[in-house]
Amino acid sequence: TPLDHIRNFSIIAHIDHGKSTLADRLIQTTGGLTAREMSEQVLDNMDIEKERGITIKAQTVRLDYTAKDGQKYVLNLMDTPGHVDFAYEVSRSLAACEGALLVVDASQGVEAQTLANVYQSIEYDHEIVPVINKIDLPAAEPEKVKQEIEEIIGLPADDAVLASAKSGIGIDDILEALVKRIPAPKGDINAPLKAMLVDSWYDPYLGVVILVRIIDGSLKKGQQIRFMQAGTTHLIDRVGCFRPKIEILDSLGPGEIGFITAQIKEVSQTAVGDTITDAKNPTSTPLPGFKQVQPVVFCGLFPVDAADFDKLKESLGKLRLNDASFSFEAENSAALGFGFRCGFLGLLHLEIIQERLSREYDLDLITTAPSVVYHLNMTHGEGSIDLHNPADMPDVTRIDSIDEPWIEATIYVPDQYLGAVLKLCQDRRGIQKDMTYVGGRVQLLYELPLNEVVFDFYDRLKSISRGYASFDYHQIGYREGDLVKMTIMVNGEVVDALSMIVHRHAAEGRGRQMCQRMKDLIPRHLFKIPIQAAIGGKVIARETIGAMRKDVTAKCYGGDISRKKKLLEKQKEGKKRMRQYGSVDIPQEAFIAALRMG
Ligand code: GDP
Ligand code: MG
Repeated sequence: TPLDHIRNFSIIAHIDHGKSTLADRLIQTTGGLTAREMSEQVLDNMDIEKERGITIKAQTVRLDYTAKDGQKYVLNLMDTPGHVDFAYEVSRSLAACEGALLVVDASQGVEAQTLANVYQSIEYDHEIVPVINKIDLPAAEPEKVKQEIEEIIGLPADDAVLASAKSGIGIDDILEALVKRIPAPKGDINAPLKAMLVDSWYDPYLGVVILVRIIDGSLKKGQQIRFMQAGTTHLIDRVGCFRPKIEILDSLGPGEIGFITAQIKEVSQTAVGDTITDAKNPTSTPLPGFKQVQPVVFCGLFPVDAADFDKLKESLGKLRLNDASFSFEAENSAALGFGFRCGFLGLLHLEIIQERLSREYDLDLITTAPSVVYHLNMTHGEGSIDLHNPADMPDVTRIDSIDEPWIEATIYVPDQYLGAVLKLCQDRRGIQKDMTYVGGRVQLLYELPLNEVVFDFYDRLKSISRGYASFDYHQIGYREGDLVKMTIMVNGEVVDALSMIVHRHAAEGRGRQMCQRMKDLIPRHLFKIPIQAAIGGKVIARETIGAMRKDVTAKCYGGDISRKKKLLEKQKEGKKRMRQYGSVDIPQEAFIAALRMG
């Protein structure tokens, strides 16, 4: 396709504003799928995505469109993941496009995630076409939303397209706007191959499929290519595109978006943002903006039933086939037995993996408290070490200082909930950087320690604002913090799975809370059980579980042997769900409940 007949665009939107619905509608209108095939949302192809309404893996679709000028255009629609945890993947998808449709819900207006994506889009010099969606809703206020787009984002919104992705209003206008307003890509077919690895995923039939955007040169079957960052070479065995069904092509040229396969077995061999070039005739300069993604939130995953360890291992391996951004390594906890220490891009990413393990692989799991990565500056010239697991914290005498990751968060909140949100940020050691009133809403800019956010910050924010607050963040580096390791001891023994790094001022409150919860959840034993929270050797909170007075079987008044037996058997059953800790049995629920904050 000649360059001036190609348009590459993405859709940016806050969650639930209608991105997927609009994408489906564009595919349907340009003839990619029949009405029957459209009955399911096509771009969200995983169950969890559908239920949670989020897009995890980017997908791209090639649309053929004959415009009002009679010319045939190729429109490449790039779907981007819609959550802060996947910000880097979003940035690469945006870098592969020349423009974007900015979808804003006519009844909700501009929200935090919209803004974050728009600013990124502007950074990539995108032409942005505002689309005010859901104008079919009675609560739609398109004029007010236009004003918000101009005031909050600073984009002209006079020629925003009014649309309803659901009922099909404005779809033709959107297609025309894409052709007229979004610039054609540039590129040189005679220059050495330069292409961006936009995304990759594992397909059981094709192996690893790589989504590419060609900048210069071309890609063909049989070509030897090189991944410049990874330093590996591969032989291309397929070139094609999605309409959204797979179509094999002879080649991909400048400005085009499509896929290749090259006998690659694991997505971990492909890094999003890498530059693909010709192995024999390479380009001299790789593409800018490459970043190695690193997990930022870590937690332990343990099977409730120790016999499930191998199954868990196998399942994690399968999930990683398709998601190189999460990591896992075997871990042994005295309280929870054998399990894995896993790393994630963020809390949502953690939840997705957890949910897939329980749903798709039928695993019953215990998750330890999520932790961020701390930098420990050691004494005695030991340098600096990364701490992923609070249980691994070295002796305090060896630590000079501890640095923790900080984020900058943008929060949008209707002003009636402002007080509660300010208090929450304050409680979480937030530093207010800015507060702006826009219409009936407030835009807050806060710096917060990431460790205060990985506990239930997002859930708390949603609940105190009745779901109206929106939240977006990015990391801004490490800062020294007055942090301590708090341990929980049951009957004098440290329960490693409950160790956590907390700010010194928060330690006592959190320690007391943990002790109380454990007290309520650990059954009485034949002896008294002290539960203590401690920092170093110093106890900061304490509860005691009283001793059981009598043998439970005494209730059976001796006579009925079979009843007695049944009771004992029942207790044995219950024991399976317990973790024996020293001489104390701790029920599974105790760990889960103790770790849940709020
Ligand atoms: P995404 O999270 O941005 O991909 O949003 P979806 O496309 O999944 O849409 C979120 C919800 O809004 C779904 O229930 C859609 O059916 C609904 N929706 C999308 N577009 C419209 C529209 O134009 N009008 C109405 N009334 N609902 C819509
Ligand atoms: Mg969606």
